[in-house]
Amino acid sequence: MSKQILILPGDGIGPEIMAEAVKVLNLVNDKYELGFELSFDDLGGAAIDRYGVPLADETLARARAADAILLGAVGGPKWDKIDPSIRPERGLLKIRSQLGLFANLRPAILYPQLADASSLKPEVVAGLDILIVRELTGGIYFGSPRESRVLENGERMAYDTLPYSESEIRRIARVGFDMARVRGSKLCSVDKANVLASSQLWRAVVEEVAKDYPDVELSHMYVDNAAMQLVRAPKQFDVMVTDNMFGDILSDEASMLTGSIGMLPSASLDANNKGMYEPCHGSAPDIAGQGIANPLATILSVSMMLRYSFSQSQAAAAIEQAVSKVLDQGLRTGDIHSVGTTKVGTAAMGDAVVEALRSL
Ligand code: NAD
Repeated sequence: MSKQILILPGDGIGPEIMAEAVKVLNLVNDKYELGFELSFDDLGGAAIDRYGVPLADETLARARAADAILLGAVGGPKWDKIDPSIRPERGLLKIRSQLGLFANLRPAILYPQLADASSLKPEVVAGLDILIVRELTGGIYFGSPRESRVLENGERMAYDTLPYSESEIRRIARVGFDMARVRGSKLCSVDKANVLASSQLWRAVVEEVAKDYPDVELSHMYVDNAAMQLVRAPKQFDVMVTDNMFGDILSDEASMLTGSIGMLPSASLDANNKGMYEPCHGSAPDIAGQGIANPLATILSVSMMLRYSFSQSQAAAAIEQAVSKVLDQGLRTGDIHSVGTTKVGTAAMGDAVVEALRSL
């Protein structure tokens, strides 16, 4: 039976980088006889322009019916001044929560060819390959009550709530262990169990889940130490699992170890490994329409989709090899360009990956 993939190019550089990812997707579809059928729709600003809302009901229905979703990026100055309840980013949050995409996977991989692009010393980051598993639909970003008010003495005060249920922790811990199992068999759970009750439950539940994974080496780390260790000795980590807010911060920190946001893909999965795949970066309005954006994060998102939603690890690895090959050839978009390499635009980079893939 054919597999349905919904493509949402989005805004800014979204359509440009997506065009290249679709070239790659079409080629692997033919080459590995994957039986994918692609359909296209709008999300974010493009959806506001077309439907009046950042995520139309019919788009959500298509996303529910699809086997996987590939997203470019949303947002841009054109929609900055509209009613906050229909901002482009609202569409993104809504599709994530409506589809129950609770597990956000963000790899931080430094291709050896790009070791100079990192702000850390090459020897600290060369060969870096970390996977951060972030809980995406719970915790302090969604907790209630939350309130901002003025006290009787006139002082303003505000608070948020950081709730986690046992089942929410258990399912994300399982994703962490499952990922560690197919990688380096090491899982570091990050929390703040010395202070927070929610973290104490987090740690206890992770310990319980660990009993089902005797082959995975589990460690725990406080989030402040984890932030420090990520810049001191990042290669000590294989898979890290953590809550929504800690994961938000640590995954951005980890992504910058690799020097370029234009290289990093991500996946957000539900309980059945149905996923939405997207580059970690935004819609880059400052370079939109110029044909210079790096399409590799989106192309590598296709690779993650093949691996996690379709168990096509051979085709996924082929895409990763093709990307590595074009980097070996010295081809670089502006964001990763350095002296001695050849600067190319978005389409030329996509074409080079397609060519490399064809010749594998
Ligand atoms: P951004 O990631 O879009 O851009 C940050 C910087 O990185 C810019 O200088 C940009 O030119 C550069 N950059 C990003 N992707 C690149 C690529 N593929 N190739 C080359 N350079 C690249 O972040 P921002 O500027 O803070 O946000 C711009 C818009 O994107 C905002 O509307 C924001 O809300 C939105 N945004 C969307 C997502 C998403 O769709 N998931 C994520 C973050 C930000």
